[in-house]
Amino acid sequence: MIDNQIEFSRILVELSNATSSKIGDEYFNSVVKHLAESLSMDIVFIGELTNNATQVRTRSMYSNNQIVDNIVYDLADTPCDHVAGKEACVYRNNVQHAFPKDIMLQEMGIESYMGAPLFSTTGKPIGLIVVLNTKPIKNEALIETYFELVVDRIGAEFERFTAVNSLIAQEKKLRDLVFCSSDFIWEVDEKLIYTEVHYVKNGLLGYSPKEMLGKTPFDFMPLLERESVFKKFKVLLDKRESFSNLLNLNIHKNGHNVYLETSGTPIFNELGEFKGYRGIDKDITDRKNKELALELSEKVLETANEAVMVTDAAHNIIKVNQAFENITGFSETEALGNKPSILKSGYHNSDFYLEMQETLAREEKWDGEIWNRRKNGEIYPEWLTISAIKTNKNAIEGYVSLFNDISRRKKIEDKLKHQANYDALTGLANRNLLADRFSRAISRGERENKLVALLFIDLDKFKQVNDSLGHTYGDKLLKDAAKRISTHLRLADTAARLGGDEFAVILPDAENLYQIEVTVHKLLKVLAKSYIIDNHEVFISASIGITISPHDGTDINDLLRNADTAMYKAKEAGRNTFRLFTDEMHKAAQERLFLENALRKAITNNEFVLHYQPVVNAQTGKICSCEALVRWQHPERGLIFPDKFIQLAEEMGVIGELGEWVLKEAARFNVELCQHINRDISISVNVSSDQFKHFNMPSLITSVIKQTGIQAKNLVLEITESLMLDDNNLIVKQLEEIKGLNVELSLDDFGTGYSSLSYLQKYPLSIIKIDRSFVERMDSNSKSESLIDAIISLSQSLELSVVAEGIETVEQVSKLKAKGCDYFQGYFYAKPLPEKMFIAFVTDNIKKSN
Ligand code: C2E
Ligand code: CA
Ligand code: CA
Repeated sequence: MIDNQIEFSRILVELSNATSSKIGDEYFNSVVKHLAESLSMDIVFIGELTNNATQVRTRSMYSNNQIVDNIVYDLADTPCDHVAGKEACVYRNNVQHAFPKDIMLQEMGIESYMGAPLFSTTGKPIGLIVVLNTKPIKNEALIETYFELVVDRIGAEFERFTAVNSLIAQEKKLRDLVFCSSDFIWEVDEKLIYTEVHYVKNGLLGYSPKEMLGKTPFDFMPLLERESVFKKFKVLLDKRESFSNLLNLNIHKNGHNVYLETSGTPIFNELGEFKGYRGIDKDITDRKNKELALELSEKVLETANEAVMVTDAAHNIIKVNQAFENITGFSETEALGNKPSILKSGYHNSDFYLEMQETLAREEKWDGEIWNRRKNGEIYPEWLTISAIKTNKNAIEGYVSLFNDISRRKKIEDKLKHQANYDALTGLANRNLLADRFSRAISRGERENKLVALLFIDLDKFKQVNDSLGHTYGDKLLKDAAKRISTHLRLADTAARLGGDEFAVILPDAENLYQIEVTVHKLLKVLAKSYIIDNHEVFISASIGITISPHDGTDINDLLRNADTAMYKAKEAGRNTFRLFTDEMHKAAQERLFLENALRKAITNNEFVLHYQPVVNAQTGKICSCEALVRWQHPERGLIFPDKFIQLAEEMGVIGELGEWVLKEAARFNVELCQHINRDISISVNVSSDQFKHFNMPSLITSVIKQTGIQAKNLVLEITESLMLDDNNLIVKQLEEIKGLNVELSLDDFGTGYSSLSYLQKYPLSIIKIDRSFVERMDSNSKSESLIDAIISLSQSLELSVVAEGIETVEQVSKLKAKGCDYFQGYFYAKPLPEKMFIAFVTDNIKKSN
């Protein structure tokens, strides 16, 4: 027993040495090993109840001198079933016999068994400790004590183990949650530097945890935001307070804005010292953007120029904006809850509103112009758009009305309409409105078989008044004249200003010519009365041309041209009178129209020819020169003379092309002629003043000389006084340049125009042609003769040669020869001749004079 006592103590000391520093499985292993070795047991194990306490799973098992793999076995029909949750049991021998169904006992050849239950600190059965032996047990008491000694500790280890396990599981759960969370979990130290950041897929701000550690949350905010958020946070930080949903704006690594809501709680260590914060960031960018957009649309609504009115389905006003208040004068409070009919003007009838309702019901939209009434009673036009608002379920939830006050626009439109139709100065109709009124008058006249007269009124000598008294005065005069015209017309008549001092009047539904003439006389009379403007009295009159529809035509432009033609006839007749457009005028107009069209074609078709008229030396009778005169060889009309088409070509702006052709053709002919007759004869070419005004004549002549090879001294240009009338320096320059080319200049038709003697000195002329009319009248009119005398003596003093044109008689020849005229040209010698005949004529002349 003593021995036993000593042995017992030794074993206990050993046990405590072997196990004291161990925990968990290590502890269990050392217990089973020690028990087996010190007590010479074949098998020792510690098991834990499992599967609703129907099974045992070994936690540590020692067998055959080593720790072996754990096993699981069913409790039923085993000795353990008597132990687990109950009390310690011992089967000193023959245990197989007691538990015949326990195959394990048989297989292992177990003879004896001893086990003790394990309980938790709360008394819950949790397992058992068992020793097994192939021989009968001897030291039963020792084992019992041993069991008593370890069961509590084993129970505690079991509990601790489960607690740790559940802690680990808990932590794993948290970790999983953190991992799955789209929020960002972080920790910062007392300096607010990130010490721990949890991984968030792609990161809220796009940075990896590595990139964030060592930085502070503020490093990711824009500067201003950083300051303002820090200011807010500082208050919390100072008091070590936790906080939630602190909004802050951050910049994503890609540069876009990220709105975060941050919540956090302070961290303290065991000593209660502040160690930083931990918390969570939520990305609320989407929500924030939606909020911003909403805020923005609210702002847009408030600042919009367009009034907005929202009603519910029952047409009660539930929202209006500032523009609504401005336009209607109703404040929001006054409008809300009311029906839109507070704006009704009474301007539209019930059908109008009915149609609006129907359209809205059908198309869920209506727009149009509507007159509404402001709070102050004023009626105004607005452009209104109403749209139905629908719920998801397609039911109508309400209506949005948008409208603009368009009174200003309408005023401008009216003004524009007026400007488009009325003359700004006089307020009379303009050409547009005239045309419009005219076509109405025509169709009415046709229906009622009445005449429509169109008058063309031109003020006489208005230009002089305008030039001498100024435009302001002129404008006032025009206004006065316009007023005189309109006040002497009937309501149905239309007066229009065509421009300048030209007016037109439509007299519709006249029964006869007499009626028309009465009105025209009245107009002439009132227009000729003195005008007193700015204390200045002037007398002017008017000339009126009349054309009558349908007799003279029905097209407004044709008729205006007719009336214009007739008006010119009135001017020619001495002004302050009228003329009717006549059949002759009509014919002339037709003819002009025909020629205009034909002339355009003639130029492209090259229908012109030159005829040549000789100029002879007065003393010798020899041909020294010729004049090129253009003719138009019309395919149907035959030869047309220049007095029919030169002026027309000037007016049509085609004289340049024609003149260029004449010049080239004349030069070409001259070269050929001189070669043919083997002597020099010069050629005169008529040049229109328009050619000088619109073209560069010196360069044209230079190129013609180059192209044809004509000798410059053989070329003479015949110009008229009209060219010198403008006293234009550019023209003098051109003429001087031409003279510089060695080309001569001849002044044609001298005496018919202005005949200013100063021209003769100023311009580089070398020849003067006395006009045919003086030669013709020389015999009968002594004035003509003395004029011819004056021209000749003047020319001699200026060293200019004199050509007399239109010589038809031998008397004219001898008379002019006696007066000292240098050259003669006229039918007396030859008519203008076609090229071949002219060459023959010259050849003959040379032969005769030889
Ligand atoms: P003009 O320059 O005074 O030409 C002389 C006109 O008088 C020519 O008429 C000629 O045929 C005519 N004539 C000549 N001798 C007599 C005569 O003894 N008795 C009568 N009764 N007439 C005579 P034409 O060819 O019909 O030319 C008319 C006008 O046309 C010319 O008058 C000239 O101003 C213009 N003209 C002719 N050809 C051209 C041209 O190529 N270019 C330009 N710009 N005008 C031209
Ligand atoms: Ca001529
Ligand atoms: Ca002439």
